[in-house]
Amino acid sequence: MKIICIGRNYLDHAKELGNEAPTEPLFFMKPDSAILPLKHPLYIPEFTQDLHYEVELVVRIGRLGKHIQEEHAHKYYSEIGIGIDFTARDLQDQLKAKGHPWEKAKAFDGSAAISKDFVDISSLKDPKSIHFQLLKNGEIVQDGLSSSMIFGIDKLISEISKYMTLKIGDLIYTGTPKGVGPVKIGDRLTCVLEGKEMLKVDIK
Ligand code: MG
Repeated sequence: MKIICIGRNYLDHAKELGNEAPTEPLFFMKPDSAILPLKHPLYIPEFTQDLHYEVELVVRIGRLGKHIQEEHAHKYYSEIGIGIDFTARDLQDQLKAKGHPWEKAKAFDGSAAISKDFVDISSLKDPKSIHFQLLKNGEIVQDGLSSSMIFGIDKLISEISKYMTLKIGDLIYTGTPKGVGPVKIGDRLTCVLEGKEMLKVDIK
């Protein structure tokens, strides 16, 4: 199983980090060891002083495919979950400045929090505009709609599958809206999908 993450897929978030809107999907990967076990807290790694949350809708691939055309991409997934792409922002900034890969800042153990449950997209009232939020200590800090993605899910699947075969169970983190920010010990993050609490992560 692999985890593919999309960067800069919401214009308001690209801008808040001082990045241009991409002209094609930007992606990077996390290993399966990055998945935060369910109900486990995330311990802030010793190599960062600026650990950020990024709430993201997560698509689980349900069918093997490569070179998937955008108009057929909907056949390759049916469920959506919610997760947090934890990022060591200080380390990422250092790596970006040197033109180095981001993995140290993005692929560490526990950096991929993911909801236990996934929702059947066809059961949602507006599958093209899925609402999701992140609360920090009960306060809404990120609030997004999937309709605001620069590249929609079908386009992402088409683009990724040009480069790598997508397998059943692979996860795609589809990018974060604006409002990313730091966590500290004692914080509680809560992810909400269409009004339903789906994931809680305590920071230790
Ligand atoms: Mg992200």
